[in-house]
Amino acid sequence: GSSPFEKAGGSLHVPGVKHIVAVASAKGGVGKSTTAVNLALALSRLGYAIGLLDTDVYGPSIPRLMNLEGQKPRVSDRKFLMPLNNYGITCMSMGFLLGDNAPAIWRGPMVQSAIEQMIKQVEWGAIDVLVLDLPPGTGDAQLAISQKISLAGAVIVSTPQDIALLDVRRGCNMFAKVNVPVIGVVENMSYYICPNCKHEAHVFGHGGAERLASELGVDFLGGIPLHLEVRETSDSGKPIVVSNPDSDITAMYLQVARKV
Ligand code: ADP
Repeated sequence: GSSPFEKAGGSLHVPGVKHIVAVASAKGGVGKSTTAVNLALALSRLGYAIGLLDTDVYGPSIPRLMNLEGQKPRVSDRKFLMPLNNYGITCMSMGFLLGDNAPAIWRGPMVQSAIEQMIKQVEWGAIDVLVLDLPPGTGDAQLAISQKISLAGAVIVSTPQDIALLDVRRGCNMFAKVNVPVIGVVENMSYYICPNCKHEAHVFGHGGAERLASELGVDFLGGIPLHLEVRETSDSGKPIVVSNPDSDITAMYLQVARKV
């Protein structure tokens, strides 16, 4: 058809997968994987069939976040990998294939072909949205993936510090180069909520990501507070959207999901 996204990213489509959305961040540790997983779970709760692909081959975190650590995918009759499933999400990660032996010495082209295979040679089945947890950064590796795969759009995760926001600008530029629309920016660790007294502290300033998003002409998808429960639930392999479905923070992830 004449979808506006037809020219977005590369040409690699996956049979059965309607849309591929990348979750990106300019650097590690800002909560990209946490956001990708909770966003996937929130989209699933909104009724979509969701796949989750961990393309971070150096530090895969989906197995732990989705409580699938130590599991190995089976191989189908036609020699495709069978994704693993938990909380209704269809998951694939290099972590399932490598265990703890992270390929620290892999070179760029090997990483790219590994990612390509995880997309092409996996029995994804019928998926409305495949959420791609990109490796941290907005450099050549991320550019290569975006050039190869037909992406409907990208979600950029940032913390509120000025320096992180500068990186958001770079991320937007990178996706622009390959015609991938930036769906919007999620500000993670937006402010701190004390688990005891519920006091909110805007440790890194207030409203920075929202201002920058409007300046760059992309949507602000919302802010997720820094909260102990987000980390604890992620570490325990049952992210907050499934472990505490009625919490305020889950409502915030659902809010983000509705805008994606
Ligand atoms: P990235 O994928 O960007 O490297 P992660 O998603 O692995 O980052 O998050 C880094 C750490 O921060 C993890 O321990 C995670 O549980 C924690 N974290 C992420 N977002 C939040 C949040 N909103 N509140 C509390 N802890 C968070």
